[in-house]
Amino acid sequence: MLNIVLFGPPGAGKGTQSQKIIDDFGLIHLSTGDMLRAERASGSDLGQRVQAIMDAGQLVSDEIVIELIEKRLEANKDANGFIFDGFPRTVPQAEALDALMEQHGTSITCMIQLLVPYEELVQRLVLRGKDSGRADDNEATARKRIDIYTEETSIVGPFYESQGKLNALNGVGSIPEVGQRIADVLAPHVA
Ligand code: ADP
Repeated sequence: MLNIVLFGPPGAGKGTQSQKIIDDFGLIHLSTGDMLRAERASGSDLGQRVQAIMDAGQLVSDEIVIELIEKRLEANKDANGFIFDGFPRTVPQAEALDALMEQHGTSITCMIQLLVPYEELVQRLVLRGKDSGRADDNEATARKRIDIYTEETSIVGPFYESQGKLNALNGVGSIPEVGQRIADVLAPHVA
C-alpha cells in the first residue's frame, strides 16, 4: 500500500496536489476538512457541534477527526492506499494514525510537506475565499489558521522526521511544477 501524508499550512496546495496523486496512483483521498464540511452541510449533530470551532479557525477535537478517519479506513479495506490531507494535525492524531495503520497491517509510507511563505498563504486563502465562498477563508481567519498551524500542527513534521519519513519541498510554483517535485519524491516508493 502507498500511504501518503500531505502536510503543510492552510493554503499550501494540499487539496490541489492531492488530486493529481489520486489520479496517478488510484489512492483514496481522506481530507478531514472535507469530511467536516460534509457533516456541516448535512446538518448532522456532529456538523453542528464543529461549526463554531471551524469558523473561528480552531482545531476540532482529536477524538472527532480520529473517528472520522477510522471509519473511512474500515470502509476501504481493499484500497491501493490513502492520501491523508489535513490530518494528522497534532501528535496525538499522528500516533493514532500509526496505530490504525498497524491494525490494518500497513504503515505510513512518507510525509510530503509543502513549504510556502506566510504572506503568499494569506493571499492564496483570501483569493480562494472569493472564489469558493468558504466562510473560514477571510483574511482574519486565514491568519488565525496559519498561526494555529505554526503553534499546534507544525510539530507533526518532526514526528515523521524522527521516523525518517519527512520530505519537505518548495510549494511555490505552478501546479505542474509542484506536482513534479512531489512525483520525484514518490518515485522510489512506487518503482
Ligand atoms: P485548511 O485549508 O485550513 O488546511 P481544512 O479544510 O483542512 O483547511 O480544515 C478546515 C477546518 O477543519 C480547520 O480549520 C479545523 O477547524 C478543522 N479540521 C480539519 N482537519 C482537522 C484535524 N485533523 N484536526 C482538527 N481540526 C481539523
